[in-house]
Amino acid sequence: MTSPLIAKVAVPVPLYGLFDYLVPPELIDGIKKGCRVKVPFGRKQIVGMVMSLGSESEFALAKLKSIIENLDDSSQKGPALSEDVLKLLEWAATYYQHPLGEVIFSALPKYMRQGELAELKAEKTWRLSESGEQADAGMLKRSAKQAALLTYLQQSPLAEHSAAQINEDWENWRAAIKALVDKQLLIMEEKPLNALISARHSAAEIQLNSQQAIAADAVIASLGEYKTFLLQGITGSGKTEVYLSIIEKALAQNTQVLVLVPEISLTPQLTQRFVARLDVEIASLHSGLNDTQRHSAWVKASQGIARVVIGTRSALFTPLPQLGLIIIDEEHDASFKQQEGFRYHARDLALVRAKNKNIPVLLGSATPSFESLENVSRGQYELIKLTQRGARNAKPPKVSLLDVCKRPMEDGISDRLLDKVAEHINKQGQVLLFLNRRGYAPLLMCHECGWTTACTRCDANMTLHHHNQMLRCHHCGYEKPAPKVCPECQHESLYIPGAGTERIENALREKFPDVVISRIDRDTTRRKGELDKKLKEAREGKAQILIGTQMLAKGHDFPNLTLVGILDVDQGLFSADFRGTEHMAQLVVQVSGRAGRGEKPGEVILQTHHPEHPLLHTLLETGYSGFAEHALKERREAFFPPFSYMAILRCESTHKDQGKEFLKECRQAFNYKEVDAFGPLPAPMERRAGRYRWQLIVMAKERKLLHGALRDWMPRVIKLKSASKVRWSIDVDPQDMF
Ligand code: ADP
Ligand code: ZN
Ligand code: ZN
Repeated sequence: MTSPLIAKVAVPVPLYGLFDYLVPPELIDGIKKGCRVKVPFGRKQIVGMVMSLGSESEFALAKLKSIIENLDDSSQKGPALSEDVLKLLEWAATYYQHPLGEVIFSALPKYMRQGELAELKAEKTWRLSESGEQADAGMLKRSAKQAALLTYLQQSPLAEHSAAQINEDWENWRAAIKALVDKQLLIMEEKPLNALISARHSAAEIQLNSQQAIAADAVIASLGEYKTFLLQGITGSGKTEVYLSIIEKALAQNTQVLVLVPEISLTPQLTQRFVARLDVEIASLHSGLNDTQRHSAWVKASQGIARVVIGTRSALFTPLPQLGLIIIDEEHDASFKQQEGFRYHARDLALVRAKNKNIPVLLGSATPSFESLENVSRGQYELIKLTQRGARNAKPPKVSLLDVCKRPMEDGISDRLLDKVAEHINKQGQVLLFLNRRGYAPLLMCHECGWTTACTRCDANMTLHHHNQMLRCHHCGYEKPAPKVCPECQHESLYIPGAGTERIENALREKFPDVVISRIDRDTTRRKGELDKKLKEAREGKAQILIGTQMLAKGHDFPNLTLVGILDVDQGLFSADFRGTEHMAQLVVQVSGRAGRGEKPGEVILQTHHPEHPLLHTLLETGYSGFAEHALKERREAFFPPFSYMAILRCESTHKDQGKEFLKECRQAFNYKEVDAFGPLPAPMERRAGRYRWQLIVMAKERKLLHGALRDWMPRVIKLKSASKVRWSIDVDPQDMF
């Protein structure tokens, strides 16, 4: 008698290890690694994934349960996840010390996780009929909305529109669209379009300048082999043009291309630029999609129908049978690192995927991460530079420091900067004021007794929001009305130190009542589509003064922008995090890069209380590369990454000492040569949302040493009795220390 077939199955639960199930005889033929299976788990039935098949189990056969159903019978469709994606995920689970089941299932879109078939789902789409193409919108006199929609569709670069795409630009459009269908100007079809777009007219080919051509040729010559390129190009140097030209070549070789971008820069504008240039189906995968769209985009990519995938972080795990090139734009961006659950870095994993597949990776940025620059020095990456702006003879902006010590400074903006704003506006320029702090003011304070608006659940102050007179904690979301008198001493001497974007906006509205001002931060862009709408208005020059946070730092092209003011550059100079200065420099350079992209020259002003600070001078005098070289030297001396390798074991608990005690036990179990442990230390914000937070930092000079230690240590940590009583997580290669 042959021994029964046993499947090791990954299930989406926060438990390490796989689960053994018997494969019933009738399922043996169709089952393979990567197939989703329905299995009994506890009292429920859940969807798991087969990770291996064999004849051994450490449990008695009689105790094993059987697989109920194979959801991806390989005689029909084949496994849900391809061999290379599975390999990547298995590697990542080990590297980041995260339960494999959760890792595997985080790579699947929702309907796949729920066990639905890997098939396309139909959705309503609209396209112009022949008469619609030619119709003159003027004839729809009686309905302005219908006329406007018709013009919009005629001018759109897209051949077909889904509801989601129309939603990006219109509100309450359904009745008008239906009327256009009734008039036979539009054709409505139900088909699997979703998130996938095809072009109607293609954009004119752009002639690459010589630097761009050299960059593109280097990568093109490496198609078909594993190699990592770092494209360091100043803002506006045409990195996107270089990507497009390489992608065209990769597509001509019949491969698929994966492009990862930070969430915030994945605007319709960017996708449309790709759509207009590339004559293939493009899938875009981002958080704005509904589950149906995501499912179809994923299925099209994994069946090789979509040839280019543009997506955020998690799109890295999309199966792409003919993947031939990975591009990561804004590779320095912190959003490539997932900060919760499975804490992976999409850029780092992209390299692993590329190596397994033997294909090139192109990392692009105006301000590369220090890790990547160090990898260039070590000969791991090839550096390609673009030093000139691509188009319109645009010149780099003039950057200067503005000492605001002892200067009149109402509401966070100095009189000198206000004069500059007026000057640029009078010359019909556009102004961007950058401050990485939303709300009206970071706190409220009593002049009399020193009372401040501390959050009762966090070690932090609550931010004042002026428009609704509320105090809100940006760390736990707790909200309460702002008091009129001091709750401690009852004096009416509350004052408002510091400024956030809301305060800047109010101040400028008073100073410039006739100018259109647009504030772009998380508070003003909560509604879906609002950010894209505001960005569009900014691009078109409708808003003359833009006030923004982080959101405005990246990848947006405002052709008319002539003045950028960074209101509080000091924020980054005195950060508790060893990456603080790196982020400060990236921000200054990225925000500055917004100025003077068009015909008019740009000017950048940095408000500071520390005009003599050597870091600011290094940045201004030697530029980003010089700054990075200098700062990397300091990192090397302090043994911080990339000159060491780090992991943080974090713990939080409602009881004050429980987390600390747990980490103490973890530390006792940590005993490895040449790997150091520090802590338990309180987190920089010790209490957050009512929980006490502690951390244990482990570091080694070599990656191998750190990972050897983690592999031995983590199973011991998991087995500790106290481990089940607190919330804890391990963060390998942490991007921030909080
Ligand atoms: P980056 O991605 O580096 O910020 P982009 O690719 O967006 O730069 O280019 C900035 C602008 O310059 C775009 O409008 C682009 O079309 C234009 N551009 C770039 N390279 C060229 C070129 N060789 N010829 C004409 N226009 C170019
Ligand atoms: Zn008081
Ligand atoms: Zn709070």
